[in-house]
Amino acid sequence: MDVRVRYAPSPTGLQHIGGIRTALYNYFFARSQGGKFILRVEDTDRERYSDESLEDLYSTLDWLGIKWDEGPVVGGPCGPYIQSERFDIYKQYAQQLVKEGKAYYCYCSAERLEALRKEQTESKSEYQGYDRHCANLTDEERAEYERQGIKPVIRFRVPTEGKTTFHDILMGDISRRNRDISPDPIILKSDGFPTYHLANVIDDHLMGITHIMRAQEWIPSGPLHVLLYQAFGWEIPQYCHLPMVMGKDRQKLSKRHGSTAVRDFRAKGYLPEAIINYVALVGWSLDGSTEFFTREELEKCFTLSGIHKSPAIFDYKKLDWFNGQYIRACSDERLVSLIVPYLQEAGFVHDPMTEEESSKVAALVKPAKERMKVLSDIVPLSAFIFRDEPVTDKSVYIAKGSDEEKTVKALSEGSRILISGLKEGKAQAQIEEELAALSTALEIKVNGVFQPIRVAITNSAVSLPLFDSIELLGLDEAERRLCRGLSILEEK
Ligand code: GLU
Ligand code: ZN
Repeated sequence: MDVRVRYAPSPTGLQHIGGIRTALYNYFFARSQGGKFILRVEDTDRERYSDESLEDLYSTLDWLGIKWDEGPVVGGPCGPYIQSERFDIYKQYAQQLVKEGKAYYCYCSAERLEALRKEQTESKSEYQGYDRHCANLTDEERAEYERQGIKPVIRFRVPTEGKTTFHDILMGDISRRNRDISPDPIILKSDGFPTYHLANVIDDHLMGITHIMRAQEWIPSGPLHVLLYQAFGWEIPQYCHLPMVMGKDRQKLSKRHGSTAVRDFRAKGYLPEAIINYVALVGWSLDGSTEFFTREELEKCFTLSGIHKSPAIFDYKKLDWFNGQYIRACSDERLVSLIVPYLQEAGFVHDPMTEEESSKVAALVKPAKERMKVLSDIVPLSAFIFRDEPVTDKSVYIAKGSDEEKTVKALSEGSRILISGLKEGKAQAQIEEELAALSTALEIKVNGVFQPIRVAITNSAVSLPLFDSIELLGLDEAERRLCRGLSILEEK
């Protein structure tokens, strides 16, 4: 069997990290099977549609390097792949069901349906939903409604007896009594728009989809879809509903947990390879231990059997860790090109950079690489090179376990050791040893000496390694800042 799978988002919002996981699993499954990955835009909800979300869909997949074999832009034999361009198709199939008695026209007014709903709620009726008022209209009754100019919807006839079962690759058989399926749902609205169920089933069939891999929240739609396939006499694709992506608190992943839009991750400076690697592992594993995968590797080794049955936890810290690893794996040239936009955005360098700025950035990248989790970290880490905003709050200079008096001594004596040592060309390890000896003499921890020095030089308590920072600034400037730090501390 030639595998054909699809990612079928509705462009009603930004691409969510959980949605992208669905896209990746479909894509990797298609690739690993030598099959086709199809992109279909389910834009039947015109009220919630936005151009921005369609743009975001394309640019997110593009950024991740996920290419679709068939779909919008690239075309293909089953197009168009945008549902709003397929309305004639849906109408024709809906009418076919009416002709065969499997669906029917309903002329009920919004007021009637509202009154019905109210009555059912108030009487706490066991029966909820449409009362099949129009299920058996005579030709005369229909003609009368038509004469009044009422535009009907088309409703699908759900059997009242029996049950419907479908098989899910992960969850096994899922059954539902037919009488529990919402009675006779609308499949075509009065304005000719299809509802999700109709369009989704027709397209999956016409596009030859073999496996439907989608979020578990679509399981409740499964039985109705199966009934539709049966009504059309079509083969039912294989289902594989993916367990939910949750936050650490085991609630559905949402903005409360952190960013969820891929666009936000991108803006913060996550690399596409880190997102792909980590997101693939949120609910899937190859052997339970391998952690690093390139996109190319996943295209080969992805399996459905590796998908976990239990809900997956999205761990932001773990993603940061992966991203840090991928940043360190970047070549210096690539990393420079990745961080420059952040430096420009912060106003640290010009666009294009001057020669002096270019060489500063080139020198910066090596020490910075070790300390970055996301690309935007470069801004706080390197601010001291491009801006000079001294820390005037004395407490920032004082390390835990030290005090103001000792900090003054540590900074004045420490500066002397550091600057004279560097001027004499002493080895870094030697200077560090002397600074450590100073801390012992002052009866404070090593950091009691290093912290005031670091704060004076880099204007911040978190920064690049000390000796790299001095090199980036130049010895004279470092010396000037140390003196200034001392005068800030000595001020009354
Ligand atoms: N358009 C639906 C969504 O936004 C597709 C669900 C499905 O894959 O069947 O998730
Ligand atoms: Zn009706």
